[in-house]
Amino acid sequence: SLTLGIVGLPNVGKSTLFNALTRNDVLAANYPFATIEPNVGVVPLPDPRLGELARIFSSEKLLPATVSFVDIAGIVKGASEGAGLGNKFLANIRESDAICQVVRVFDDADVVHVDGRIDPASDIETIATELVLADLQTLERALPRLEKEARTQKDRRPTLEAAQAAAEVLNSGRTLFQAGVDATLLRELTLLTTKPFLYVFNADEAVLTDDARRKELTELVAPAQAVFLDAKVEAELLELDDESAAELLESIGQDEPGLAQLARAGFATLGLQTYLTAGPKESRAWTIPQGATAPQAAGVIHTDFERGFIKAEVVSFDDLVAAGSMNAAKSAGKVRMEGKDYVMQDGDVVEFRFNV
Ligand code: GDP
Repeated sequence: SLTLGIVGLPNVGKSTLFNALTRNDVLAANYPFATIEPNVGVVPLPDPRLGELARIFSSEKLLPATVSFVDIAGIVKGASEGAGLGNKFLANIRESDAICQVVRVFDDADVVHVDGRIDPASDIETIATELVLADLQTLERALPRLEKEARTQKDRRPTLEAAQAAAEVLNSGRTLFQAGVDATLLRELTLLTTKPFLYVFNADEAVLTDDARRKELTELVAPAQAVFLDAKVEAELLELDDESAAELLESIGQDEPGLAQLARAGFATLGLQTYLTAGPKESRAWTIPQGATAPQAAGVIHTDFERGFIKAEVVSFDDLVAAGSMNAAKSAGKVRMEGKDYVMQDGDVVEFRFNV
């Protein structure tokens, strides 16, 4: 499955956040056969629709979609001294599908900042610069070969031109994601900065309740998404019962856990969406890429479902809830038969028909 790699300067709260992500062991109980690596934190994607489906279908179980975060440890220790990034670190980022940078905005005199002061813009730039330099190195190695290939093979010219354009963007100090570069032709180079970015601002109450400050930081990282949370509080929340957790959140001006926001932002950053299935056994959200067709969606349940796909019976979540039951939705003409070209919509409740 797709993953977000967690990066950031030392002492910004990566381990604290990652511990909160992994202590979320609700999932281990629901997915007993999933192998969860020690450096992977899996969080459920909050989805209130599942509760409603479970009520309509009297489902025994609720299975939310999940988002996986990989802890890319050890990192940038030497970056600010010009030591650059280790190969292991770069390889780990290459394997991630998106980059999630934790940025410190909490104030705490007891926690040393590597640069001696809290400066989120500078922290963001430090990491971006390292990744930009790594991509420039990759391009410098590839360009002579691409030039040679383009001389004899006409179909390699667009790739060469894309690589030259990318080098120009990187030389201006921007990441390819920030610049909105279409990197389809450059996939063979597995560049780092084409990956979508997500920023987690590890904040204290002062920042969490300061709308102007949050807006400023959100604009700083756009078009990447910004999530604001207090990593220490997130870790504490997992120890509390629902009522005490709600009180703690309220005391820092929040109405839901930061991990819930992080799951949603991570899911969107990876370009994913869900569709729903429901029955007496379980109500479940399934993960598909945005734009997936009905057979591709069926393939997420089982590869046989994709191969033997006949049609999908689809009702939108809102229509189903308004009707009150599947039969009522059918009588009201709200259940559609969709074929193999149907593009799945968020909130589709689906039953697939297939040959085996
Ligand atoms: P890492 O080096 O990025 O993995 O950072 P750690 O998670 O080890 O955190 C470094 C220090 O900052 C630890 O002492 C944490 O307890 C503390 N810390 C982490 N998050 C917060 C936070 O949100 N607020 C405060 N006040 N301290 C934090």
